[in-house]
Amino acid sequence: MENKEPILVVKDLKQHFKINRNFTVKAVDGISFDIMPGETYGLVGESGSGKSTTGRSIIRLYKPTSGSIVFNGKEIGGKLNKETSKELHTKMQMIFQDPMACLNPRKKVIDIIGQGLDIHKSYSSIEERNEKIYEMLELVGLSREHASRYPHQFSGGQRQRIGIARALIMNPDLIIADEAISALDVSIQAQVVNLMKKIQKETGIAYLFIAHDLSMVKHISTHIGVMYLGQMVEKGPADNVYMKPKHPYTKALLSAVPIPDPKVAKANKRIVLEGDIPSPIDPPPGCRFKGRCKEAMKICSEVNPELKEVETGHFVACHLYK
Ligand code: SF4
Repeated sequence: MENKEPILVVKDLKQHFKINRNFTVKAVDGISFDIMPGETYGLVGESGSGKSTTGRSIIRLYKPTSGSIVFNGKEIGGKLNKETSKELHTKMQMIFQDPMACLNPRKKVIDIIGQGLDIHKSYSSIEERNEKIYEMLELVGLSREHASRYPHQFSGGQRQRIGIARALIMNPDLIIADEAISALDVSIQAQVVNLMKKIQKETGIAYLFIAHDLSMVKHISTHIGVMYLGQMVEKGPADNVYMKPKHPYTKALLSAVPIPDPKVAKANKRIVLEGDIPSPIDPPPGCRFKGRCKEAMKICSEVNPELKEVETGHFVACHLYK
């Protein structure tokens, strides 16, 4: 088997925001995971779990409070030199939930997609620049005629394709897709996920796919990490987490995923999660899920469970697993 190095190694990442002298929001509180080249890591959890903050810390929209982020073998969690900063701006890209909010309405698609090329002067002639943009439009299933149009002339799914083209034109090694398909209709979601898979096959790109809805994550991820209140509660190969979920929170999230086969769906008991995710401001001791867990025991109020390996590469943080 080929011995590959991870493209991204996140170790004990913390992202805390101090609100005032007494309160700190512990949005991300010590999470670790790796992404291999050409793989997709699905990071899931409800709103407030810290998954989007994790993506934003990795791409340095926030300065991490502590921990290490190694991208392409280089530490990027602290201060960066010019060369590493430039590499990061090209080799790691992000796609956001609402493409309309991040596509300049006054710019034509050709200039939106070409923005990265223009900033980094990555062409020797205007013809070369435009040709790269046309190729990218075709790669994402649009045509060169679309290049002279404005964002408002496209549907939501097409706008997300423009967002993907804009990210891809810099030939990145990693794309962070933050709820990139959540605002789209289900049929369009499937199209965008299939497009991302096709591009991954052709280019070997890795994705960090952040989503609250597990149904699409299932179709794209090689590995899954489940976050709850700033911490990783379960992680492992996607098949193991889907077929044999261990943590009561993962089980509840998965029980809500629609199953196309009515017989299997009937046998699958829905676990209703009661209450909302608690506040990440100074969480109390013990397991952070205890207030919503039907299996909580005495120890759960006293000790925050550590991630333990329950089968090869499959980790769970829960006192039910010794
Ligand atoms: Fe539930 Fe306890 Fe496991 Fe937390 S540690 S998920 S409260 S059983």
